[in-house]
Amino acid sequence: MTTAILGGGLSGLTLARLLHERGEKVIVLEAEPQYGGLCRSRADRGFTFDIGGSHIIFSRDAEVLAFMRRMIEGNEERTVRNTKIFYKGRYVKYPFENGLYDLPPGDRFFCISEFIKTLIAVERGDLPAPENFHEWIYYTFGRGIAECYMVPYNEKIWKYPATGMSHHWVDGRIPRPPVEDVIKSAIGIPTEGYPHQAVFSYPREGGIEALARAIAKPVEPSIRTGFRITSIRNHDGHWQISDRTESVVADRIICTMPVQHLLAALDGVPPEVTEACGSLKYNSLVCVNIGIRGTVPDLSWLYIPDPAIGKTNRVSFPSNYSRQVAPDGCSSILAEITHQAGDDVARMTDRQLIDEVVEMLRVMQLAEPGQVVYTSVVRQPFAYVVYDTRYPGNIAMVRDYCGSIGIPLVGRFAQFEYLNMDGCIRSVMDFFGS
Ligand SMILES: Cc1cc2nc3c(=O)[nH]c(=O)nc-3n(C[C@H](O)[C@H](O)[C@H](O)COP(=O)(O)OP(=O)(O)OC[C@H]3O[C@@H](n4cnc5c(N)ncnc54)[C@H](O)[C@@H]3O)c2cc1C
Repeated sequence: MTTAILGGGLSGLTLARLLHERGEKVIVLEAEPQYGGLCRSRADRGFTFDIGGSHIIFSRDAEVLAFMRRMIEGNEERTVRNTKIFYKGRYVKYPFENGLYDLPPGDRFFCISEFIKTLIAVERGDLPAPENFHEWIYYTFGRGIAECYMVPYNEKIWKYPATGMSHHWVDGRIPRPPVEDVIKSAIGIPTEGYPHQAVFSYPREGGIEALARAIAKPVEPSIRTGFRITSIRNHDGHWQISDRTESVVADRIICTMPVQHLLAALDGVPPEVTEACGSLKYNSLVCVNIGIRGTVPDLSWLYIPDPAIGKTNRVSFPSNYSRQVAPDGCSSILAEITHQAGDDVARMTDRQLIDEVVEMLRVMQLAEPGQVVYTSVVRQPFAYVVYDTRYPGNIAMVRDYCGSIGIPLVGRFAQFEYLNMDGCIRSVMDFFGS
């Protein structure tokens, strides 16, 4: 029995490894010249940048975390998170609710008083349960935290009005500190939010791709790169998968590539399923990689909610995760800009994007243009699943259809879920458990 795995990102590679360990025959079909998907990294002139945005290894899933750390054993750096939000020229501790003391006094009062008023209103049953993400933010954090940070930041990253987004996904993904911690943070007693990420791992060498490579190692001979799947047909119980020039035959297929690409390769998909799939919302990503001479602040990454500062929603400092990812005397900065296909960011040239980020770094006093010694731009069409209010109905129709024709979906854009690396590996492990 041969299993063909469609897509060679972290999910496909982990699936292949676990199948191989069970003695099964697998082949991984990957469109790009290098496997790894969003977990690829590029080394160039002494700098190594993650090309799917800055990645770190963390999880509250002990089994999955142990697996990832075992994979990079001997090549692991551990870092204490030092993450901030850039707010009115200040660095506010992340998560925002744990950093209220860093706010100007007026904003601090606004945030804490609205937080407490909202708690009382919820307690009394005066506030109706939230029906969308916007209402959830106000209901959970109050008007102050909502308007100073949560709404502007979320609308910047999702490129979608919070009123049009569902809130079913927030648990475990948006930090919600205990009430005591929010009060402590407002009066200046330090607290730590999102504790399972407070210390994280990163490969010393090779960027996050070192994790993908370590997982892939035993199955490398079974990975076909440069195989962009355009057609999938089932003949007498066998699957024939083609990339226009060649075909591969398998007894079983498991899809880890985006469902949009899967359905486009199939014949006879009902129009209502095609429509549901076409209505699923996602964001693309531009990564602007900057190498500078000199140092950067001792920060892990920085959220930038204010649209006036620049298009970037987050900048990370990879050379603070590992000294091996930048040449001696240099530091690295990775700016992430989410966008949607065909929008103003998609139309910007690489030069324009670099200029925009270099100017932002100057304004934020993170780096002067004269320090810049390296720049590059990478674009990822599929970066984030956006949970609009029509998502539950649309995804159910797509999943039911794929299930009915015998194609399991595993991974971030196959399941079409906001899964981090740990969530993808968990899905793979559960796939075998099911
Ligand atoms: C900005 C950003 C930051 C992130 N940071 C973190 C982090 O810090 N920690 C963390 O745990 N997770 C993080 N993640 C999430 C992590 O990247 C994903 O969970 C994980 O990489 C998804 O793996 P996957 O294999 O499911 O999908 P992908 O990586 O998308 O893999 C899908 C693969 O399918 C291939 N493919 C597509 N179409 C075809 C086709 N037609 N034929 C053949 N192959 C095809 C693609 O080339 C790709 O290799 C981040 C994601 C983003 C966008």
